[in-house]
Amino acid sequence: MGSFVYDDDGGAILWRFSLLDELGEGAAVKIRLLPSDLGSDEKLHFLTTFLIDDVLAIDAGSLGFAALEVQRGIQEIFLTHSHMDHLATLPIHCENRLVEERPSGLVVRGHAQALEVLDQNLFNDLLWPDFSRIHYAGEPLIAWSVLNDEEPVHVQGLTVTPVLVNHAIPTFGFIIDDTEGRVVISGDTGPTERIWDLCCEGKEPDIVFVECSFPNRLERLARESGHLTPALLREEIEKVPPASEIVAYHLKPAFHDEIVRELAALSRESLSVANSKEEKWIPCRKT
Ligand SMILES: [Zn+2]
Ligand SMILES: [Zn+2]
Repeated sequence: MGSFVYDDDGGAILWRFSLLDELGEGAAVKIRLLPSDLGSDEKLHFLTTFLIDDVLAIDAGSLGFAALEVQRGIQEIFLTHSHMDHLATLPIHCENRLVEERPSGLVVRGHAQALEVLDQNLFNDLLWPDFSRIHYAGEPLIAWSVLNDEEPVHVQGLTVTPVLVNHAIPTFGFIIDDTEGRVVISGDTGPTERIWDLCCEGKEPDIVFVECSFPNRLERLARESGHLTPALLREEIEKVPPASEIVAYHLKPAFHDEIVRELAALSRESLSVANSKEEKWIPCRKT
C-alpha cells in the first residue's frame, strides 16, 4: 500500500509504494497530474494532463504550462477526446517544442473524430499553424495517429489500451500496462462498463484514476453530459477490485470542495482526491 511523501521539487507529492523501495525508482512507472491553476490554488484543475514517465502525456489541457524541459521530453500524446479542457494548451506545447537544434517530432494519438476536429478546426492555419504540414529535416512537427477501440499501442516499454467510455462525444479511457503493473485513467465518462471489465482481465489495476466532475445534487446534469458524481463514482468503483487505489480527478473547480466532502463521506479506503501537487509512482517493473 502507498504512502504520501511531500517533495518541494515542483511541489509534488510522491506516492511511494513499499514495493518501490525494493525496486528502486528506476523500476517504477511515474504518473503525474500536471497543475493548471497557475499558482492560485493547487488543488483545482481547470485543465487535464497526466504525464507518464515524463515521455508520454495523456491529454494536453495543461501541458503547455509545464517547464520547457518537461515539454520537450514528451514524445507522444494520447488524447482522451477533443473537449477543450483536454487539449487547450496543445498549440502552445507544439510551439514550445521548437528549439534551435533539431526539434523532436510529436506523435498525437486519439480517436479519429478527435484528430479530425483538431486538424480541421484548430491546426488549420487560421487559429494555429498546421504543424502536421510543417516539416523540419524531413519530418513533420506533428504526426496524427488514429487510435482504435481496444487496440493496444506499445510505446516506451508500456502498453496503452484505449477503451471507449460513456461521454458526450467519442472518448477513450486508457489502461496502461507494463510487465508488472497496471494503471487505469477513466477519461471523461458517465457510468460505464467495458473499461472496468477489461482492466480486471489478467491482472488487477494498481491505481485507477476516476473522473468525478459534479456534486451529487447535479446527478442529472452529470448523467446527461457523461460525467460522474461521488454517488455515481461509488457505483463505478464497485466494478474494480477493492485492493486497487482509487484517485478521483477532473473535479469541476466550481464544485471542488462540495465534491471532496461527498467523496470523503463515502468512507472508502484507498480513495483519494488528485491535486496538482501529486506525483505517483506505480509499482511497475519496467522491461
Ligand atoms: Zn469532455
Ligand atoms: Zn473534461
